[in-house]
Order: sequence, then structure tokens, then C-alpha cells
Amino acid sequence: MTFAQFSSYLEKLEKTSSRLILIDILADLFRHASKDEIEKIIYLSQGRIAPFFEATEIGMAEKTVAESIAKAFNSTKEAVLKLYGKLGDMGIVASLLNSKVKNPAFAEASAGGQNSKLAVDDVFETLTKIAKTQGEGTVEKRQQLLSDLLKKLDSVSVKHLVRIPLGNMRLGIGDPTILDGLAKAKLGDKSKRKLLEGAYNKTSDMGLIAKTLFSGGIAAVNKLKVQVGKPIRSELCERLPTAEKVIEKMSSVDVQYKYDGFRVQIHKDGERVSMFSRNLENMTHMFPELIKATLQQVKAKTAILDTEALAYQVESEEFLPFQETTKRRRKYGIAEMAQKLPLKAFAFDILYKDGRSLIDLPLRERIAILQKTISEDGVLMVSQTEQVRDVKRLTILLEDAISKGLEGLVVKRLQSPYEAGGRNFNWVKLKRHSSGELQDTIDCVILGYIFGRGKRTAFGAGALLVGVYDESQDEFVTVSKIGTGLTDEEWREIKVKSEKLKVKTKPARVNSKIVPSVWVEPKIVIEVLADEITKSPLHTAGLALRFPRLVSFRGLDKRAEDATTVKELVEMYKEQFKK
Ligand code: ATP
Repeated sequence: MTFAQFSSYLEKLEKTSSRLILIDILADLFRHASKDEIEKIIYLSQGRIAPFFEATEIGMAEKTVAESIAKAFNSTKEAVLKLYGKLGDMGIVASLLNSKVKNPAFAEASAGGQNSKLAVDDVFETLTKIAKTQGEGTVEKRQQLLSDLLKKLDSVSVKHLVRIPLGNMRLGIGDPTILDGLAKAKLGDKSKRKLLEGAYNKTSDMGLIAKTLFSGGIAAVNKLKVQVGKPIRSELCERLPTAEKVIEKMSSVDVQYKYDGFRVQIHKDGERVSMFSRNLENMTHMFPELIKATLQQVKAKTAILDTEALAYQVESEEFLPFQETTKRRRKYGIAEMAQKLPLKAFAFDILYKDGRSLIDLPLRERIAILQKTISEDGVLMVSQTEQVRDVKRLTILLEDAISKGLEGLVVKRLQSPYEAGGRNFNWVKLKRHSSGELQDTIDCVILGYIFGRGKRTAFGAGALLVGVYDESQDEFVTVSKIGTGLTDEEWREIKVKSEKLKVKTKPARVNSKIVPSVWVEPKIVIEVLADEITKSPLHTAGLALRFPRLVSFRGLDKRAEDATTVKELVEMYKEQFKK
């Protein structure tokens, strides 16, 4: 496939605001891809040259890209940046300058939009070269590589190409939508996505799944196994309100503290260690002390551990609150922060050891293996566990956790396998019960903002339109408008964060009956507290939040797809009547 053909699909994808059409276009694109290029096409569709969890970045600064565009199309960096200031999208700038250049070498390509002969493979290869360029003169070398590429492409292609190193594809294609597209292209129907989900939950690698499907069919996909170096999608918790309900529903359980830090999945492969967040982001470089501890304390050649990492005050031997711990998620000043806020990681599960996947073993066996695998307490500690079958003991443990300043407990079914990507009653979180209020916060995604009157207009917002995630449809449905409870400072913060995500029309994966003043790409997750969940014909979740207020921004911690789901909200709605 030529890059121009591929770009014509990206162009169609950009123009649609319907998820079903998005899937149709993707399926059509995939059908036209060969088994040797499908993997690259998948990554490029997501603006990448590797799966999300790999640290391979093609990142280039706006100024560097502007210089490449200028070089390619006989302009100057200043002129490019000026146009960019006016148009707000480097892709459109490149496209415009490309069509203006009267260069006979690619006049034909520009006019036809489809005639440039450069293959997807060639572009992928150059982008990989750009990503791998290191050392002295990196900026100039990258600039040259990109500008040489731009010279050979038509105006539609350059538009989409320059957005890749800028990390600004704006297509809104999440992994589930790619799975739908693949299912439709190769298995006949998007409902067959379920057949691909198992492999996705185990490997998180969409390119690998596509390549396997194209070369060996669904049978080969089913055989894909957990692999060290590829994150397993995290198992998550359901909620139950009281110790009584836990014992009633689960009878005998394994009880663990719920540490309030962040999830780190640690992969050990000989001397190599890699680490992933709950949303599959590669965090390896952020935590040097965890790398060291893994190499020292994990008694296995290869292993995958599920852990929660927390900042730890060495002098007072205290665990610090989440707001402190989260300061460790940073790109710069890593060594200094590691000194100031050293981490401990509590390992609560083991998913792989010495070449063997353990995810199908029952929890109690996995815990036994875990305890044997980690040598004495250090930076890495094995989470304490206790088997409990009565309400009284469970209540004591919950009170104990709360008195230690922890959030509560996680209780787990002893016989359950590790359900990658699952959220069900195999794992349940139990927090302090506060009657009258919903006991848990809801993670909502900002979908738009509605201009207000009065002094708030200065910040460009009066209320936020927020939604939750509907997993079955891979779309965001509305659940509330949030206006009150935000300080002027918070409005400013929201304004700055959403400025880059503003779009003219409703994003493809948003389902809303309310039309806000401005649509925002579903990317920013906020934590919301509400008094009650009520039924609502106005909101497409079918439910609404009563007296919602913002508690915090979830920052890098959660992707939009990790927000509260409709299914969870329905559970929470039902729980209200059981108290
Ligand atoms: P919350 O917002 O309430 O912290 P969440 O939405 O981040 O929860 P949940 O599925 O509700 O995620 O809770 C599970 C999270 O709790 C895990 O992702 C993990 O980070 C954390 N956790 C802390 N201790 C444990 C433990 N012992 N076992 C499993 N998860 C734990």
C-alpha cells in the first residue's frame, strides 16, 4: 500500500463523527493491507511506530517540524510558524505549502492526491530511523530525514505525516475500535471482536494481534501467550459496601491492604527490567530503585509481578499519601526525586515465572509462588495476605487498614484465575462506609464545556459536560454537567488542558443529546464526588449524578477508557437501594 493510499483513509477517518463509520473505514483499510504491512498500518493509525507500551518515541518539537516543512517546501521556519499560529494545525500548514509548491517532480502527486509512489513500509522505515537517531546533531538529522520524506509526498499525505512526530493524530481511534475494525475485516462482523480480546488482554499489542490474525487466522491468535516485556491488562476491582455483603457474596476470601499509590507491573527478563502503568504506559525509566530491587530480590530468570508502588518516608517509616507518591511520575529530575521520595513496591500477584504463564492458576497458588519468589523485605515487599471467612475478622482488618491511613481493603476469591482486563467480583474493594453519600468517587471524562455568564466567561467555561465509558460500544456517554465546586484556579487549569483538545464537531466516539458550546476530545479524566445517582432521560448513560463536584484531576494516571464504565455506574446505582 502506498502512503498516499493510507493517508486517504486517515483523511476519511478524520472527517467522520460516527463510530460505526469509523469502524467501516478501518475495516476497509485493513482489508487492503497485506500480511507484511498490517502491523505497521496499525501502529501508524495510532500515530506510533510501536505499541503504546514501548518507549519508542518519534517526538519532535514544533520548531523542528516547522524547519523540516520549510526546507521541503521552499519556505522559512518563521513563515511556517506564522501560518501555524494562524491555522493551529501543523498538518494543515504542511498541506497548504505542499500544494503551493510548483515543483514538477511532485505536481502530479499534489494534484491527484493519490499518485505518490512511496510505500507505507518506506515511511515507517524513515520514521523508525528518526526515532533511533541519537547523539550529536540529532535535531538536524531528524529534520533532514523528515524534510526528505515530505518532499516525496502529496498534500494529503504530508498533512497526516507531520502530525505523527508531533503526537497529534486527532483520530480518536482507541484500541477497542481497532479490534472492531479487525474483526469486521477478517472475521466478518465487529461483534467477533470478543474472539480477539483474550489475546489483547494478554499482550496489549494490537500490531502483534493483527499480524498473527493475518498470517495464521483466529486459531493462531488464540494461541498467543503472555510474554515478558508486553504488559498484561490489569485485573480491576468491583465494589461492595460492607463486610457483610462481601462474606455473603464471596464466602471465603483472601484479604489484602488497598495501598493508595499507583499500579506498577514489573517485568523481569534476565538482566532487563521493564515497568508499566495500569494504562500500559512504559514507566521503566521513572523508577531506578525498583529496577535495582527487582534484579536483587526476584529469584527467577523471568517474571511478571503485579505491584502497587508508594512513596515511603524513610525516617518516620511512613507511607505518604497519593498526592505525594504521584510526584514520582515524571519525565525529568528522576534521580533527584528518587532521593526525595523513595518508593516501596508491594507485590500482590505473580503472573509469570521462568517461562511459564501463571494467570490460569488459582490465586492461592499464585500467592504461594509469589512468596517463594521474592527474597526478604527490601524495596520490594510481598503484600501481606490473610484468608478470612467471617464478617467479624473482616471488619477488624478493615478498621486496621483505615487506622493505618490506608484506603481500605481488596478482597479476592481464592480460587480465581488472573482475569486480564477483567473487572468482576473476583476482586472487590472495600472502603470505609460513609452513609448518606456514595462511598466512592466516579472517574468522568470531560466531553465539552458550556459557556457561562458572568465572571467565569473570562475563563471560557460555565459548566463541564462530562461522561463515562460504555465498554460494549467503545464510546463515551454523558452523565452530568458540573459547574459548582470548581475554583477559578481549577477552571483555568481545565481551560489550559482542554485548549489543545478542542474540536469543531462532536468527536466520533461521543454519544450525547446535549450539545456543549465547545466539544473536547475525550482525554481528560477527572474524579467526581456526587451525593446520588439518579435515572435520567437527558443523559445518554441513562443515569445522572446529583450534586456532582470535582475532587481531582487524574492526570497521567488514567486514559479516557479507564474512566468509570456504564456497567459500574449501574452497579453503584443499584447498591444505593441495598444500604
Ligand atoms: P480507586 O479510584 O478507588 O483507587 P481505581 O479505579 O484506581 O480505584 P480499582 O479497580 O477500583 O481501581 O482498584 C484497584 C486498584 O487498587 C488497583 O488498580 C491497584 O492500583 C490498587 N491496589 C492497591 N492495593 C491492591 C491490592 N492489594 N490488590 C490489588 N490492587 C491493589
